[in-house]
Amino acid sequence: MSELHCTHCGEGGLEPGFIMDQGEHSKGFARWVEGALERGLLGGARLMGRPKWEIDAYRCRYCHHLELFASRPA
Ligand SMILES: [Zn+2]
Repeated sequence: MSELHCTHCGEGGLEPGFIMDQGEHSKGFARWVEGALERGLLGGARLMGRPKWEIDAYRCRYCHHLELFASRPA
């Protein structure tokens, strides 16, 4: 991922990071879930059997746009 560039302004040199999640039972980072959002009886997202991926969030230091990649199963 050495040739990443901002898809908003075109600059390079994106800063690596991630999306924090401090919700209850959270591991501290947000994940991308495969498939459209479906809600259960209590309104929460249905997650059983859904593949989940870690999210890499690269920040453009010029326009502050975020580039998101989900490249590793979580
Ligand atoms: Zn940018």
